[in-house]
Formats: sequence, structure tokens, C-alpha cells
Amino acid sequence: MTARILDGTRIRDQIFAELKDEVRLLTAAGVRPGLAAVLVGDNPASQLYVKSKIAACEEIGLASALLTPPATVTTLDMLAVVEDLNRDNNVDGILIQLPLPPQVDSKRILEAVDPAKDVDGFHPVNLGRLVSGRPGLVACTPAGCMEILRRNDVTMEGANAVVLGRSDIVGKPMTLLLMHANATVTICHSRTRDLPGIARGADILVAAMGKAGYVEVGWMKPGATVIDVGTNRVTDPEEAERLFRNFPSRLEKFRAKGTALVGDVHPDAINIAGALTPVPGGVGPMTIAMLMSNTVKAARLRRASPRFSATQSTARAR
Ligand code: NAP
Repeated sequence: MTARILDGTRIRDQIFAELKDEVRLLTAAGVRPGLAAVLVGDNPASQLYVKSKIAACEEIGLASALLTPPATVTTLDMLAVVEDLNRDNNVDGILIQLPLPPQVDSKRILEAVDPAKDVDGFHPVNLGRLVSGRPGLVACTPAGCMEILRRNDVTMEGANAVVLGRSDIVGKPMTLLLMHANATVTICHSRTRDLPGIARGADILVAAMGKAGYVEVGWMKPGATVIDVGTNRVTDPEEAERLFRNFPSRLEKFRAKGTALVGDVHPDAINIAGALTPVPGGVGPMTIAMLMSNTVKAARLRRASPRFSATQSTARAR
């Protein structure tokens, strides 16, 4: 059996198309949603992420602004930047690109963001709303995983779901979202006993550990839906042999480039899972899609008239 591929790129494109329409309507009503990104220093990976987020804004018609404080910025400087953005009525979403330099108190900065503009869904107010099942802004990666499940008609109600990883930005919110969708959820971490045994009970298995190809085929119930959040860069040839032993073309590519992107789930899972998100091209594109979606949602909730808000509903996770 070969798993159905849960194509995140295709769903991202659908969501972008829906958002373009909504942004056009909002703009015509005098509300052009806007995202402000704060990128500190010159970390190349962060620069790349922010560049793709700004490009996505341009694609769907959002206004965007990029602020680039130097790597020497202090906590107080950053608080002043956030305060200005909180006050700016044209800014609907504030994105603080992490990691911040070590001298900056990241928690304090994230908590200073107005919860109504917290499009990353990291603020304790939004986390609290998620815990109690109230509407709010939800962290983009788990919201994207839910959108993949919904748009592929994966049954969540009554399903046994297992989430591997308990981080604040992926594992914990993912667990809460699945629970609110009426799945029975088990959350696992580095101290969990018999991880493979627990994972084997999952109808829906979400892997978010940051360990390349760690989730072996023997950990999966045949036919399970597997959401692979992991994004790991592999450069060790021995590891690549272990991961791509049954994928000669991926091994060839690895040998040519000396690097490959791999999820937390072993690629052989394609032969046992019922449905599977690929890496790359699964959860990754959905994270940006949900950032755009959260920005439009924030604009709608904060600035649009109640009449407009009541008539708009695009992405179902929103
Ligand atoms: P994280 O903060 O490092 O958390 C990892 C979690 O996995 C922790 O809860 C940890 O347990 C658990 N864990 C680690 N090793 C384990 C093991 N051997 N057995 C069981 N549990 C283990 O990572 P994260 O930020 O959640 O990210 C997870 C992965 O998702 C990474 O590969 C990251 O790159 C990727 N990611 C992708 C996207 C995307 O857009 N595609 C977005 C965000 C993250 P403890 O709590 O006990 O330490």
C-alpha cells in the first residue's frame, strides 16, 4: 500500500487564492491588512524566512513592513519597537522573527505584543483562549496541520491521536486543537516510556520532535494518517543511506548536493501509512499560509465593521 500524499503546497495555494479575494474585499472597504516583521541582526536562516513571508504578503495583496534593528539591540529598544507597532493602526499583525539575540529577553518582547496583533499565536492571552476553546489567534504550524487534516476529510472525531513533542509552538497547541476537534489525544516527549507502542495506537500521528527520520515504520498502525512537522537538514552520508535506502533518486540527489531536507518520520512510512505529509512540501508551506490567514483574520476582527466580519469565512481553521 502506498500512502495518499497530503500535499501542503496545493492547500497553501488554495488558501492564498481565498485570502486574495478576502483582502480585495477588505481593501475595497477601506481596510488593507498589514503585517510588520521585525528581523534583528543578520542570521541567514531568519533572513530567508522573513523574505518568504514578505513575498507571501505581496502575493496576496497585504501591506508589509520590515524593521531591522541591529544585532546589538537591547530589550528596552525592542520594547519601544513593539510599542510603536502596537499603536500603529495600519499594522494588523506583528511578527517577531526568532531567535532574538541572547541579550534580549524574548519572553518579555513576545508578551509585549498586543494579543490582537499576535499573528504567531505565541502570546499567553491567545494560548489561554486556545486552552479554553475560545476564538483567538492560533500558532501557525499547528493551525496549518489542522487545515491539512480538514481539507483532506481526515476524521478527527473519536480518533486516537498521538502528538510526538510538547513544544509551546507546535506540540502543545496541536494537542489542544486535536482535542477541540474531539480526538482522544496522547502527548509524548523525551521522557515518555514506550514511544513506539503508544505511536502504534494512533489513527492520527503527528511528529514534531526535530529528529530526522526517527519515527520508524514499526511505530505506525497500517493506514494511519501521519503529519510530519519535522524539518531536519541531513548532511551525514551514513544517515542519508539509512533514510533513503529505498529511494534511489533521493539518495542520488543527496550525493550530488551533500544535503537533504528530511522530516521526523522515516521516508519508508509511505509504504504503511494511509496518508502522509511529505517533507518538503507538507506542513512547511502551510505555516506561511496560516500566518497570512492570521493577519487577515486580525485585520477583520480589529478593524472591519461587524457586518463585514459576519459575512467572511474562508479557511475553515479560521
Ligand atoms: P522543540 O522545541 O525542540 O521540541 C521538541 C520536542 O520533541 C520536545 O517536546 C522534546 O521533548 C521532544 N523530543 C525530542 N526528542 C525526543 C525523543 N527522542 N523522544 C520523544 N520526544 C522527543 O522543537 P519544535 O520547535 O517543536 O520543532 C519540532 C520540529 O518541527 C523541528 O524539526 C522543527 O524544525 C520543525 N518545525 C517545522 C515547522 C514548519 O513550518 N514545517 C515549524 C516549526 C517547527 P522534551 O520536551 O521532553 O524535551
